[in-house]
Amino acid sequence: MIVQKYGGTSVADTGRIRSVAGRVAGAKQAGYDVVVVVSAMGDTTDGLLAMAEELAPSPNARELDLLLTAGERIAMSLLSLAINAAGYPAASYTGSQAGIITDTAHGRAKIIDIRPGRILQALEQGNIVIVAGFQGMSTALDVTTLGRGGSDTTAVALAAALGAEFCEIYTDVPGVFTADPRIVPEARKLHAVSYEEMLELAASGAKVLQLRSVEYARTHGVKVHVRSSFNDDPGTWITEEDVRMEQAIISGVAADNSEAKITIEDVPDRPGIAAAIFRAVADEGAGVDMIVQNVGRDGKADVSFLVPKADLRRISAVMDRVLKEFGAARHLIDDDIAKVSLVGAGIKSHPAVVAEMFAALADEGINIEMISTSSIRVSCVIRAGDSERAVRAVHAKFGLGEDARGVRDHE
Ligand code: ASP
Ligand code: MG
Repeated sequence: MIVQKYGGTSVADTGRIRSVAGRVAGAKQAGYDVVVVVSAMGDTTDGLLAMAEELAPSPNARELDLLLTAGERIAMSLLSLAINAAGYPAASYTGSQAGIITDTAHGRAKIIDIRPGRILQALEQGNIVIVAGFQGMSTALDVTTLGRGGSDTTAVALAAALGAEFCEIYTDVPGVFTADPRIVPEARKLHAVSYEEMLELAASGAKVLQLRSVEYARTHGVKVHVRSSFNDDPGTWITEEDVRMEQAIISGVAADNSEAKITIEDVPDRPGIAAAIFRAVADEGAGVDMIVQNVGRDGKADVSFLVPKADLRRISAVMDRVLKEFGAARHLIDDDIAKVSLVGAGIKSHPAVVAEMFAALADEGINIEMISTSSIRVSCVIRAGDSERAVRAVHAKFGLGEDARGVRDHE
């Protein structure tokens, strides 16, 4: 059994849907039981969101979820019709019909259970099964969505629940690259990356997969193959780190321009302050990245951290409130930053990598404003305008391109 997922571009119009139907039929003919997860056609989700926001500045979360799930339902039924017309029995199911049970957090619901009885039955009867991505039904029996890009997570979760051999994610790019090929033309497609590396890349701004789908794949050991729906070329495998991958030092460079920096000045240097600040941020449901606190002087310290630009206004209002309680002077906002990250499983055993990355930026005259590292990632905050130059410089420094010495074996 395989699970295939097709993104919005891959089902953007009826012509594309017909070609997806052909690909799905091909997998069936090759002897697979096929479950297909679809995204909404093209920019449908953005269009629905825009209409909702036009009518209601902060739309009711339950109603918004009902609206947004309609996009995937259109795509699933059209694909099912096309597959039927091609001579293969097919049946489509909404998230709730497919037994995808979530918590009640509208707009960012988490899958807590999958009851695939109905899908298994349909497969047994010889059907190709189509499931609407990005959605489920909550424990309160309401329709929920899994967050933008959530169809990836639907596909991986179904692959896990059904015990599929692997999960194919069909998209409009050929796979995962050593850098964004639009910024670095000589970027190379990776044959394979480990779950850990993919998690770091996704969190660092690589937009190929929804972060949560990678977490799900790692937790449940689902092999994922990211590939283009526009040709038959193999893409990138995301799996357990294997013996062959051990030679890899660096997998890629990513840039993220979606975050802003908040700096709180003159925070009283005593227990409980950080807890209170970040509790307040967490209560807003916002993700926080790269928290840096400097050494306290005169009983005061500065704290800086990154938040998604989309959450900036809300977090800033929260800071006004919290800081008043602690007598911290003020907080500053800087939304003209970028985060450039180098990711690779070999970083932990090659300490020189960190220094070489800093040297690559220094050679370009790019100032580093914040640094954070994990055992397989180095991230630097720089001026937003330096972001593309930084990616190119780091990519070149580590010879990640097509004709370079090749720190990773590849296809
Ligand atoms: N259609 C949804 C979105 O655009 C879900 C998805 O594409 O995975 O975010
Ligand atoms: Mg989409």
